[in-house]
Amino acid sequence: MAAHRRATTHMNEPNDSSTPKHFIQAIIEEDLASGKHERIVTRFPPEPNGYLHIGHAKSICLNFGMAAQYGGTCNLRFDDTNPIKEEQEYVDSIKEDIRWLGFDWEDREFYASDYFETLYEYAVRLIEKGKAYVDDLSADEIREHRGTLTEPGRESPYRDRPVEESLDLFRRMRAGEFADGSRVLRAKIDMASGNLNLRDPVLYRILRAHHHRTGDDWCIYPMYDMAHGQSDSIERITHSLCTLEFEDHRPLYDWLVEEIGIYPPRQIEFARLNLSHTIMSKRKLLELVNDGLVDGWDDPRMPTLSGMRRRGFTARSIRRFCDGISVAKANSTVDIQLLEHYVREDLNKIAPRVMGVLRPLRVVIENYPEGQVEELDAINNPENPDAGSRKVPFSRVLYVDRNDFHEDPPKKYFRLAPGREVRLRYGYFITCVDFVKNDAGEVVELRCTYDPETRGGSAPDGRRVRGTIHWVSAEHALAAEVRLYDHLFSVADPGVVEGGADFKSHLNPDSRTVLAGCRVEPSLAEARAGDCVQFERVGYFCVDSKDSTPQDPVFNRVVSLRDTWAKIQKKQAG
Ligand code: ATP
Ligand code: MG
Repeated sequence: MAAHRRATTHMNEPNDSSTPKHFIQAIIEEDLASGKHERIVTRFPPEPNGYLHIGHAKSICLNFGMAAQYGGTCNLRFDDTNPIKEEQEYVDSIKEDIRWLGFDWEDREFYASDYFETLYEYAVRLIEKGKAYVDDLSADEIREHRGTLTEPGRESPYRDRPVEESLDLFRRMRAGEFADGSRVLRAKIDMASGNLNLRDPVLYRILRAHHHRTGDDWCIYPMYDMAHGQSDSIERITHSLCTLEFEDHRPLYDWLVEEIGIYPPRQIEFARLNLSHTIMSKRKLLELVNDGLVDGWDDPRMPTLSGMRRRGFTARSIRRFCDGISVAKANSTVDIQLLEHYVREDLNKIAPRVMGVLRPLRVVIENYPEGQVEELDAINNPENPDAGSRKVPFSRVLYVDRNDFHEDPPKKYFRLAPGREVRLRYGYFITCVDFVKNDAGEVVELRCTYDPETRGGSAPDGRRVRGTIHWVSAEHALAAEVRLYDHLFSVADPGVVEGGADFKSHLNPDSRTVLAGCRVEPSLAEARAGDCVQFERVGYFCVDSKDSTPQDPVFNRVVSLRDTWAKIQKKQAG
């Protein structure tokens, strides 16, 4: 079943020409045309304090995508300035996820921590120019002095201490002479500025914490605002693409590169991706992991790339989704069904069709010879003629889905019912002649007859049946566990909570349903971790990469077959 292997990702697939140009492309084209830049340089700058999520995918596709489209380069830079929350595990997972998504940073793997010495020199330069000072106020006092949006801040009593004194104290901060939190280095800008980021922001703090790369070399660490823009400058990033919440930080970044006297990158802000029925905050995702509300960062319900990969989402469908939603200047929320639509569209082309029965109901074909087995031809993928066909065994005892039988069928129900004839997919017409109930009154077995003339699915006399159902041969089928997933949260915007509750109160209690004792066709014995198939009439499924074994296969439902999004679009168009 080599056709079951999941298609590998391809970089630089031709851009969908139906997607109109976005404003960042327009800016880049202008900068190239005017000669401002000969080549563009972008970067993806994750903080290694969690796993990447679908929001990061948007940033990755944009940064690597722009570089690829315009013949430039994109760096991977870890913004690792907060030793308390950062770990090597996160660095490794981030690299794995970017590669899986189909992008390559080649030898351009950088770390803000590689620049600690240079950043220290920049800070010294600012002090020497009278543009930064060591402040002895406590964190609480600094906050009190900061003012509000309507009131100006107050200047620290240490603001005008002599340059020599600040230089000396900053050196001794580095040398470890002072306690954590006892002093900070602040930029000297404007305590009355309407932009709070310009009210003498803290540039350095004292923190005795082990860093995942620099170990115990440093006991002072640059703040994010000190490190981020300067790292962009050191790497000569031409277009520093970031999300809207950094718009108010841009004047600070511009001030810093100007005063330090270094290369000025251009920062351009775009709207972050918000997706309905899930959350994108690493802090909240970590909370779900730590509280055991999900099975780790790669739980198939998580919006993380590792979770989506395990669930069976393809890298290509995520890239297409990111391209499709384009890049905007205003925040909005994208319906998660749109992402599922892209996944379905991709899997429809590549996933082999197989038969799997989630809620098995035994069927005995009374007039089928005992011990006889036929190999019936089944088409692997009607969307892909090259996918060929396979054999599925047919015998006297089968399983069909419990939902495909109704003792007292409602109107428009065309599947099995007493006296009713249906077609078995790739097989024969069968007619239900009787059924058996257990003591609890549940139907546990159907007795049917088959018409030997209908092999292949049509009757020589031209009679028609309305329903076609899937099945497996009881003797040949494999037992499997199937995990059905629904949205992680039961409301579209779990961030909105009332009355002191928190986002976790919106967790969907039915986000995962585990079905044991499912039966799947024997060709799946060869399926390997990560392989995706379509169980005909049921949905797309992926072999779980952690819990599945050849003896006890486990399938994750990737998406159902019903494309709600396509239906919405049709409705809107019609
Ligand atoms: P969080 O707030 O959850 O910690 P973050 O934005 O701080 O996330 P980073 O590791 O700093 O996480 O993000 C790396 C890059 O990805 C940044 O450039 C950031 O702007 C971008 N990014 C993060 N979330 C999104 C999102 N939802 N949509 C688009 N880009 C995003
Ligand atoms: Mg961040």
